[in-house]
Amino acid sequence: MSNCSRTALVFAECADGKLRRVALEALGAARQLVQDGGAVHAVLVGGGTAASEAAAELAARGAGVVHVIDDPALAQFAPEAYAAAIGAAVAAVRPSMILLGHTAAGRELAPRVAAAVRGGHIADVTAVETTDGGDAVFTRPLYAGKAFERRRFLPGAPWVITVRPNNLPLADGVPPDRQGVIAALPFTAPPLSTTVLAIARKADAGGVDLAEADIIVAGGRGVRSAAGFAPLQALAQTLGGVLGASRGACDAGYCDYSLQIGQTGKTVTPKLYIACGISGAIQHLAGMSQSRVIVAINKDPEAPIFSIADYGIVGDLFEIVPLLTKRFQLL
Ligand code: FAD
Repeated sequence: MSNCSRTALVFAECADGKLRRVALEALGAARQLVQDGGAVHAVLVGGGTAASEAAAELAARGAGVVHVIDDPALAQFAPEAYAAAIGAAVAAVRPSMILLGHTAAGRELAPRVAAAVRGGHIADVTAVETTDGGDAVFTRPLYAGKAFERRRFLPGAPWVITVRPNNLPLADGVPPDRQGVIAALPFTAPPLSTTVLAIARKADAGGVDLAEADIIVAGGRGVRSAAGFAPLQALAQTLGGVLGASRGACDAGYCDYSLQIGQTGKTVTPKLYIACGISGAIQHLAGMSQSRVIVAINKDPEAPIFSIADYGIVGDLFEIVPLLTKRFQLL
């Protein structure tokens, strides 16, 4: 596929009515992939929440047309209904590529969308390279981050791509005269096989969005108790970050599993990851080794976490973390 003929459709995922950052990262990738010759569309889906603010932001950041689908059936995330909504946008746009975030929703939707359009699918993309000739190469991690593969689509079928949050640059703004238009797209919800009755959020998990956090202070078994997380929380608060944890800390009951980072937890790529009392088991590294700057605090100088840390502090976290907090409070 030459870049001149490319048309991209971005699924603009929202959380609590607000555009998720990964939607703007997917939009940036779409703009890079179509380059100057093609068109970039976005589809914004919701039930009374396909907010105009989100649509305006997409239009201001280079989506040529923002298709808004607002339907009561889309009030809660339901894969069948959302896939049908994306299908309606696909029918209207006939894109050569469809981009989604590699989020819980994106992971559910992308295979459905790929099957519906009989497209190829590359998941969990962490880098996109394009050549002047229009070739595109996608990088994605394998084996829990122990290897990377570079993959490209073969000519023919549409592309379906999910992009890992926090890896690709955000779409830049465009001048007012190049901003896109916002248009409502008619949609008839299909009959669904299941329906969501209610979503009960755990009180202590509310508001934590590890996947999009810029700064994470994570605790491991070395934190020793639930109360031991208090100094980490103070440091996170001082830095404007959020708490994370190893599975060791979750299994020990020191914190909620919603904080678990790693192979069987969340994958995070913050700008700063501070690991406190975490040994650095391979399953933990699988979820955080792509962080931009890693600081490890551990009293064991041989702890494996130091092998991937940019900065290592050998010592007792209960002495060091409060010192760091005090120091940052002075800045
Ligand atoms: P430990 O390995 O016990 O390390 C505690 C560390 O704290 C030690 O290095 C110690 O030196 C240090 N320490 C102790 N006291 C202090 C102190 N006062 N100051 C400073 N340092 C101190 N793990 C994950 O994290 N995420 C996953 O998603 C995950 N998935 C898994 C999936 C499978 C299939 C399996 C088998 C395992 C998985 N694990 C996962 C578990 C993983 O193998 C480790 O057991 C776990 O990561 C260990 O957690 P930890 O580093 O907190 O604890």
